[in-house]
Amino acid sequence: MSIIKNHQIISRHGNLDLVVDSETGMKALVSGAFLKKGDVIIKFGAKEILSHPNYLTVQLDDNRHIHMNPEYLQFANHSCDPNFFIDTERMEFIALRDIHVGDELLFFYPSTEWKMDRPFQCQCGSPKCLGLISGASALPADAKSDYKFSKYILNKMNESYSTITSSAKR
Ligand SMILES: [Zn+2]
Repeated sequence: MSIIKNHQIISRHGNLDLVVDSETGMKALVSGAFLKKGDVIIKFGAKEILSHPNYLTVQLDDNRHIHMNPEYLQFANHSCDPNFFIDTERMEFIALRDIHVGDELLFFYPSTEWKMDRPFQCQCGSPKCLGLISGASALPADAKSDYKFSKYILNKMNESYSTITSSAKR
């Protein structure tokens, strides 16, 4: 399921195309190649490390939020039914399922973001769309088993769960 409809290619980067929706002006990443589930789509680095998140950063841990390098990767959009995952330890985009030529690359923002700087009302159109997306800290408990998360986010979820259960015992 693509977020964008009438896309025009702005620039090509190996297997990835940066595109723009000619009606809304929204940018997106589209695959220019067939990718198999588990494939490394691209490796990335940090162009800049910030101590606080903004709507373009990817969270590594409590105090590090990066602007990705290459920069066009920041235009990957969110979906509640993602087709790739950002591995923040290996610094790689990984295909979660087979991706075909022309498919938009979509990831689940809460899989790397604990508390997002700019929550938004999701309109991804997936039957399991979660609505308001504001980070992993606000996910309903039953959504947590449906997604792959970064190790940092998994640890945060386990910590906050044990805090809740231990305070409930008192
Ligand atoms: Zn959604």
